[in-house]
Amino acid sequence: MTNRTMTRRDFGSKVITVSAAAAAASLAAPAVLGAAKARVVVIGGGAGGGTVARYVAKGSDDIAVTLINDSPTYSTCFFSNLYLGGFRSFESISHSYDTLAADYGIEVVIDRAAGLDGNGRTVTLANGDTLNYDKAVVAPGIDFKFDAIEGYGPDAVETMPHAWQAGAQAKNLKRQLLDMEDGGTFVICPPPNPFRCPPGPYERISMVAHYFKSYKPHSKIVVLDAKNKFSKQKLFEDGWARHFPDMIEWLPLDITGGVKAVDVASNTIITDDEKFQASVANVVPPQKAGQIAQDAGLADESGWCPIVPETLASLQVPNVHLVGDAIIPGDMPKSGFSANSQAKVCAQAILAELASKQAFKPRFRNTCWSLITTDDSIKVGANYEATEEKIAKIEGFVSQADESDEVRAQTAAEARAWYDAITADIFG
Ligand SMILES: Cc1cc2nc3c(=O)[nH]c(=O)nc-3n(C[C@H](O)[C@H](O)[C@H](O)COP(=O)(O)OP(=O)(O)OC[C@H]3O[C@@H](n4cnc5c(N)ncnc54)[C@H](O)[C@@H]3O)c2cc1C
Repeated sequence: MTNRTMTRRDFGSKVITVSAAAAAASLAAPAVLGAAKARVVVIGGGAGGGTVARYVAKGSDDIAVTLINDSPTYSTCFFSNLYLGGFRSFESISHSYDTLAADYGIEVVIDRAAGLDGNGRTVTLANGDTLNYDKAVVAPGIDFKFDAIEGYGPDAVETMPHAWQAGAQAKNLKRQLLDMEDGGTFVICPPPNPFRCPPGPYERISMVAHYFKSYKPHSKIVVLDAKNKFSKQKLFEDGWARHFPDMIEWLPLDITGGVKAVDVASNTIITDDEKFQASVANVVPPQKAGQIAQDAGLADESGWCPIVPETLASLQVPNVHLVGDAIIPGDMPKSGFSANSQAKVCAQAILAELASKQAFKPRFRNTCWSLITTDDSIKVGANYEATEEKIAKIEGFVSQADESDEVRAQTAAEARAWYDAITADIFG
């Protein structure tokens, strides 16, 4: 018995619990249920994959949807910085797949997808099972280029967490921050472009600063950036100067030459000419598409996956679509909002092909909110369309430096409402 979640599917007014016996009966009685259903297998139950699975399942009763995720609980990276800052509990950013299984008839498989064979149209699970598909959607998020920083391999992440995949890593970083003495130094190393959530490191700096200001006011934050500029930079720097004067030192690439190595034993980060001894070290390494995308031949030499902008179909492997952080997203940032938006376009393309549903001209949207401190939030966003070459920005907006406290508080309230809305849109 594998650790599969049983599903219920609502056929009209009847809710049917699919037991092993019922499944066998349905196989034995195809005339009752009609022709074999098309099968969509989604790898990765995050912002992108969860949304595709839900939208395909609710879009047609003629498609069987299987969602594979390597853990029974998904903790969002979005709002994980707020968890670090003390604004959210870990439970409030953690979600199960129960509703997707119970209310949408999605077969949820808790296992790791170990391989995808584009010729045979099969996905192999770590437990050895093989699943056939008509369309596969690959949405595994990111993995790390562990060879990019000397000494920072998979073994280093316990001592120097990246916390760029949520769950255990975010908990680890929070525990280290709680255990740190007042007067300690938090060293954070934001990665080079492109990476998951461009404003994320700077929101994290803000949230750690908020925590230090309240509980460890003699502590410092040193930022060893792999870049010379960053998302919403003026807005963040203005917020840091107002709320956390003299606490944060941001050192761009031009000053340090970037992080070259780490010494895990002494919690030291090494740049061209200097060594930085950290009380808590948060090293976020360079990134690439999740490993399954690499192994399945979906990524190109950049480490990310090229797609057809109109449908999110892979340019490398037929009958496979990709959404979320793993793709080359044109002008869109790698964000949960983007992944959710791409997922709806992808679901529509699949429904058009497998269930003859009408396809509309795709539109994409994104907004990234960042909390600087209590009720002081900023945002950046845009609308996008599919061109021949890429997902292209149409028009955008960004918060202004001279906004009133009321506007900033309103932006923070918007962000909280967005979190509730997007997680309901992903997980039902
Ligand atoms: C600190 C931080 C703050 C952020 N804040 C925001 C924010 O405020 N707003 C926003 O929009 N975005 C934010 N993001 C970005 C957002 O989290 C990601 O862009 C989003 O999660 C990408 O969705 P995805 O579906 O591509 O990947 P994920 O959400 O990571 O989902 C991928 C899932 O697939 C699973 N998986 C991977 N490989 C396999 C496999 N082989 N088999 C089975 N399962 C597999 C993973 O475990 C995971 O559950 C933030 C990110 C970070 C790190």
